[in-house]
Amino acid sequence: MPGSSRIEGFHKLAPAERLALVADRAGITPAAVAPLGEAGALGLETADRLIENCVGTLAVPIGIATNLVIDGVEILVPMATEESSVVAAVCHAAKLARGGGGFVTSATDPVMIAQIQLLEVADPEAARIKILERRDEIRALCDAQDPPLIAHGGGFRDLEVRVIDAAGGPMVVTHILVDTRDAMGANAVNTMAEALAPTLAGWTGGRALLRILSNLADRRLARARCVWRTDDIGGAAVRDGIVAAFRFADADPYRAATHNKGVMNGVTAVVLATGNDTRAVEAGAHAHAAGTGRYRSLSRWEVTAEGDLSGVLELPLAVGLIGGATRIHPTAQACLAVMGVDTGPRLARIIAAVGLAQNFAALRVLATTGVQKGHMALHAQNIAIMAGATGAEIDRVARAMVARGEVRIDVARALLDDPSSGAGG
Ligand code: NAD
Repeated sequence: MPGSSRIEGFHKLAPAERLALVADRAGITPAAVAPLGEAGALGLETADRLIENCVGTLAVPIGIATNLVIDGVEILVPMATEESSVVAAVCHAAKLARGGGGFVTSATDPVMIAQIQLLEVADPEAARIKILERRDEIRALCDAQDPPLIAHGGGFRDLEVRVIDAAGGPMVVTHILVDTRDAMGANAVNTMAEALAPTLAGWTGGRALLRILSNLADRRLARARCVWRTDDIGGAAVRDGIVAAFRFADADPYRAATHNKGVMNGVTAVVLATGNDTRAVEAGAHAHAAGTGRYRSLSRWEVTAEGDLSGVLELPLAVGLIGGATRIHPTAQACLAVMGVDTGPRLARIIAAVGLAQNFAALRVLATTGVQKGHMALHAQNIAIMAGATGAEIDRVARAMVARGEVRIDVARALLDDPSSGAGG
């Protein structure tokens, strides 16, 4: 039975103590989380099956986002990231959100789009209608490609045909919309698109060229919303600063790119921790952000009738529990076990909530103290290590640099060389 995600002083524990507590709070066995504690959980033999020319693996830290309440459920969320402050930011945002009840999420059905491009069609408008007429045949052909998917309740859902006025002349582009259930679905829909292409070419007299999914998975949206009580976040000035920061991002692509990168700090970290395709999710998110023709904020922020801060996030999230590295990677399996997710859409909803929490934390800091203060405190440890500090020296050098307000490699080296500065020995 899962326990509370609210854990005071989690950061003060040793990694092994944290892991034991995670298993306890997630209501799962220590064995289920064991791969999280092993830097080399992905053995070379398995890694060699995942990619070509494999020579090794890259270890990335996994941190646990505490304090999250998502749809009334206390949940601990593993995040894989090399960037300091990212996990701490979600923990803090989630803590402040608890007073308002936490995050509420929803998702569309997990519907992926695959595209089939037809060239050299003499009468593209007529071809479009001819393809649309044969929806039932197309459904049967697609569904015949993937009996296991049908058995799990997925399969062909709909058909769209577009005539695209491209350089070199019009092309007929067919979209098949396929519910891929608990799979990300790239292989599933690509197989269907490849099987269907010769038939479409035959019906229209065209030549089929590309047959591939679209990463603009805008029929597969995950949504999160949350209200932070103004009293919990430092008052009306902070609330209004966050709204003004959002309006800046929504009006200016230069700001929006950084704003959305902040959202993706959270999103990508959970996508990676679960062995899902980070590039697919990133591509979908940014394409969706430009969906109105202008690159805009993925999130939206406003003030509620009660005067509290409301944040919402909606983005395409093509993630699954089946396929890719997810099934094969022991650490990804452990991460899914910690969250207790049993469907693809549930994972997407959790990720959306984390993205919203991450965005809140970034906006709050930007609209108040600025990022460098908090970021530098954590970053100082990396700089100290780069300067050659080991063991207890790392903390001492880092603290001394932060106290001086100078977090730089030359300062770290000087502090290491000069024990009287309070950093050495
Ligand atoms: P997959 O083909 O390994 O697994 C999906 C299959 O599992 C389904 O087709 C179905 O037959 C079966 N299945 C069993 N139980 C299921 C369930 N409960 N729900 C759904 N299906 C179930 O994986 P995939 O998700 O089709 O492909 C994902 C991989 O494709 C990722 O590794 C991704 O990186 C890669 N990929 C991505 C792109 C892209 O994003 N542009 C292109 C090609 C490949």
